[in-house]
Amino acid sequence: MKKFFLLSLLTLAVGLLTLFHSQSTSNKTISGAPPYDASGSDFVSEKEEEQLFTDWHRPDGPAKVALQVGHWKNGEVPEELHRLRGNTGAEGGGKIEWEVNYDIAMRTKTLLEEKGITVEILPATVPPQYWADVFIAIHADSSLDKEKTGYKASGSYRDATGNADELVTSIEKEYQKATGLTKDDNITRNMRGYYAFSWWRYEHAIHPMTTAAILELGFMTNASDLDLLLNSPDKSAQGLANGIINYLKSQHLPTT
Ligand SMILES: [Zn+2]
Repeated sequence: MKKFFLLSLLTLAVGLLTLFHSQSTSNKTISGAPPYDASGSDFVSEKEEEQLFTDWHRPDGPAKVALQVGHWKNGEVPEELHRLRGNTGAEGGGKIEWEVNYDIAMRTKTLLEEKGITVEILPATVPPQYWADVFIAIHADSSLDKEKTGYKASGSYRDATGNADELVTSIEKEYQKATGLTKDDNITRNMRGYYAFSWWRYEHAIHPMTTAAILELGFMTNASDLDLLLNSPDKSAQGLANGIINYLKSQHLPTT
C-alpha cells in the first residue's frame, strides 16, 4: 500500500513537472516582441538624462529613418541584452521571424530611398544612443491560437519626443489600407517597454529624441496573415513606407 502511494506521488510530481515545463516553453513562442525586463538598473542617471535633452537639436540633412529587423543577428547582442540571445520570435511556413522582417524591411527601404529619405537597416543590436527622425522595429507575431490575426503598432511608454502617437497612427492607417489586415488592439507591455526604446535602461538603445514605434506585421501562426507576409510582402512594405512618409511630411522633414 505504501509503495503504491509513493508511486502515485512520483507520477503526480512528474506530471506537474512536465506541465510546468511545457508551459514555460510555450510561453517563449507566444510572445511577439521580446519580453520586457522589469528587473535591472538604469543605464542613464538622472543627471545624464538631463544632458541628453539640453541643447539637443536635430542634425542637419535629409530625413533619416531606421528600420530594425527584429531578432536579426540576435546571437551577437552585447552582454546587457544577453537575454535576447535565444529569442528567435515567431515562425511559420518554413521561415523564422527575422527572415520575414528582413524581407519587408529591405522592400520598405527601397520605397523610402526613392523619396530621397536616408535609410539604415539595423539588426537586434542598436548602436549606442542611436538617433534618427524615425525608428521602426519590425516584428511578426505568433500565438497558440491559430485564428488570431492582424497587425498592431505601438510607441514607448516613455516617449520623450511627444510624436510617437502620431507616427503610430500614421503607420496603422496606411498599413491597414495597403494590407487589408485588421488591427489587433492587444498592445503588450513587451511592445511599450521594448528594449531598443529603453534609452534610460540600455546603452544600446535609441537616443530619447528619436521618434520610435514597433510594428507587428501580422501573425505567422495564422494561415492568411502568413500568406500575405510571404507571398505579397510588397503590400506590407508599401503600407509601412506610406505611413512613415506621411508622418515625415507632417513634421516638415525633407523628403522629395
Ligand atoms: Zn519578434
